[in-house]
Amino acid sequence: MTNTDNVGRIIKVSGPLVVAENMPDAKMYDVVRVSDKRLIGEIIELRGDRASIQVYEETSGLGPGEPVYSTGQALSVELGPGLIESIYDGIQRPLDVIWEMVGDRIARGVEPETLNRQKRWNFVPTAKAGDEVEPGDVIGTVQETVLVVHKVMVPPGVSGKLVFLHSGEATVVDTVAKVEKDGVIKEIQMLQKWPVRKGRPYKEKISPDEPLLTGQRVLDMFFPVAKGGVACIPGPFGSGKTVTQHQLAKWADAEIIVYVGCGERGNEMTDVLIEFPELKDPKSGEALVKRTVLIANTSDMPVAAREASIYTGITIAEYFRDMGYSVAMLADSTSRWAEALREISGRLEEMPGEEGYPAYLGSRLAEFYERAGKVRCLGSENRIGAVTAVGAVSPPGGDLSEPVSQNTLRIVKVFWGLDAPLAYRRHFPAINWLTSYSLYTDTFDGFYRNRISAEWVEMRGKAMRILQEEAELEEIVRLVGVEALSTRERLTLETAKSIREDFLHQNSFHEVDTYASLEKQFMMMKLIMLFHHECLRALERGANLLELLQLPVRDAIARARYLEERKIADLDQIAVAVKEQIAAASATGEEELEWQTA
Ligand code: ADP
Repeated sequence: MTNTDNVGRIIKVSGPLVVAENMPDAKMYDVVRVSDKRLIGEIIELRGDRASIQVYEETSGLGPGEPVYSTGQALSVELGPGLIESIYDGIQRPLDVIWEMVGDRIARGVEPETLNRQKRWNFVPTAKAGDEVEPGDVIGTVQETVLVVHKVMVPPGVSGKLVFLHSGEATVVDTVAKVEKDGVIKEIQMLQKWPVRKGRPYKEKISPDEPLLTGQRVLDMFFPVAKGGVACIPGPFGSGKTVTQHQLAKWADAEIIVYVGCGERGNEMTDVLIEFPELKDPKSGEALVKRTVLIANTSDMPVAAREASIYTGITIAEYFRDMGYSVAMLADSTSRWAEALREISGRLEEMPGEEGYPAYLGSRLAEFYERAGKVRCLGSENRIGAVTAVGAVSPPGGDLSEPVSQNTLRIVKVFWGLDAPLAYRRHFPAINWLTSYSLYTDTFDGFYRNRISAEWVEMRGKAMRILQEEAELEEIVRLVGVEALSTRERLTLETAKSIREDFLHQNSFHEVDTYASLEKQFMMMKLIMLFHHECLRALERGANLLELLQLPVRDAIARARYLEERKIADLDQIAVAVKEQIAAASATGEEELEWQTA
C-alpha cells in the first residue's frame, strides 16, 4: 500500500465526512481505509475521481493530504456461528472484544475479529458426498447456543455436486464442504460475508398469515403484527418505547431476536447492555441472550456507525430467516438513525427536504422495512422464514407530523401509538387504543377462531365498540354531567374502565402479569364481557346498577391478570360466580320491583 499512485488523498474533513480525490477506481459503498490510522470508511458519494466517505470512527486530527486506501469491497457483515450472544457496534465490531483490547473508549483503527476464528464448533453434517446442492441447501448444523441450532447453508451463487463434507470440530474458517461444478471446486466455510446494503436473496415473498404473538394483551388482541410484518412504536420520551421493545424481545414467539439500539443518551444504551444479559428467556429459563444478537450505538459513538447499524441488523436477521427461522428485528429508535442520515446529508451539502432531513428519507426507510417479510427461503427444502421488523420512533415533543413519523406511517401496517397522557396516568403499556391500528387484524380472524375460539373475533369487536363509546360518553359527561347518562350508558362507562384497567393495563415488571397467553387473554376478556352482558340483562329486570357494581366478583375479575398460567382454568369458576352473583342481585331487584308495583 505504499505505492502512492493508487492512493487517494484527503482534501477535506467535516465531522464524520471525509472528501478524498484521486480515487478513479472507487465504487459506491466501497469500504476504504482512511489515513495511516486505517480508520474504516464507506464511500457514499462519487463525483468524478472525488469520493465522499462516511467514516465510522472519530475523525478528529485528520487533515488534508493524508492517504485513503481502497479495499474494493462493499461494507459487509460476517455471518456464521458465533453471532448469537454477541454485542456489536454499528459496523459489526464486537464491543466486548474491543473493551477487552482497549477499555471502554473505542480506540481508532482497532480491528478485532468479528466472528471468533479460533473457536471450534461441532459441525454435524446433514447432507452427504455425492448430493447435488443449490444455494440455501443445509449441509450441516452447529448447536450455537442451547436455544439455537445454526444451519450451515450453501451460500448464494454456489451449486453443484458435493464432493467433500466435513464432520466434527471445525472453526468458522475451516473448509467444511467442497462443491464441484464443471470441473471447478468451490470450498465452503461456515463463515459467509454479505454486503449490508443489499437484501439477501430468497425464492419468493409470501403474504403473512399468522400473528407474532407477544403475550402483551393490547397487542395480541387488538393490534397484532404479522410474523414477517412491520410495525412502528412512536411515542414521546418516557412513554414506554424501550420497555415495549424489551417486552417483545422477551416474549415474542420468534426464534431469534436482533435488537438494534440507538441510545438517546450514552448511558441509556449502556443500561441495555448491562440489563440484557441478565434477562431470562421466560419459556426456557435460559438467558435471553442465547437467542439474541445485540447491536449497540451509544450517542458517543460516531454517527455514521449509527447509520449503518440498522443495515447490519437487518442483514443478520435475514441470514437467520434463510435458515427457516422466525426472526424479530427490533430497532430502538429509528429517529436516532434518521438524525444520523440528516447529519451526513447536511455535510454532503445536499438539498435539504423537510426539517433538514434528506429528500430520500422516505425511500431509505421504505427500503429498510421492505427487507422484512415472510419468505420461501432458497434451497430445495422449501423452508419458510420470517423477519418481523418493529421500529420505535421518537418524534420530538411527541408530534407525529414530523418527517420520520410521517414517512414511517406510510410504510408500516401496524401502529402502536404511545401516548403521553396515558403514561402520565401510569396506564402502561401507554398504547392509545383509539388511535392505534393494525391492518392485519382481519387477516388473522381465522387464526384466532381456530386456535382459541369462534367467539374471539366477535368479543374483540364488542370490547372495542365499548371503548369507543366511552370516549363519546366522556364528552357528554364533560359537557352536561354524569346525570345526563342512562343507567345503560353508565354501565358502558364501568365496563370500559374494566377493559382498560383489568385487561389493557399490563405491568411489565410483575412476575405474572408481564405475559399472558392467548388462552388467558381470552378468558380475561370473556369475564369482563360476561359481567357486562349479565348486568345488562339484570338491569332490564330492574336490578340496581350500584349494587351490581359492588358485587365481590368484580374484584375477582380485576385480579385475574395475576393468576398464573397453570391455574387459568380457575377463571371458569369466576364465570360461574359472575352468573350466580348477578342472578342473586337481580332476584332481589325483581322482588323490589314486584313489591313496588303491588
Ligand atoms: P421511552 O423509551 O419511550 O423513553 P421507557 O420505555 O424508558 O420510555 O419507559 C419509561 C418508564 O415508563 C419506564 O421506566 C417504566 O417505569 C414505565 N413503563 C413503561 N412501560 C411500562 C409497562 N408496560 N409496565 C410498567 N411500567 C412501564
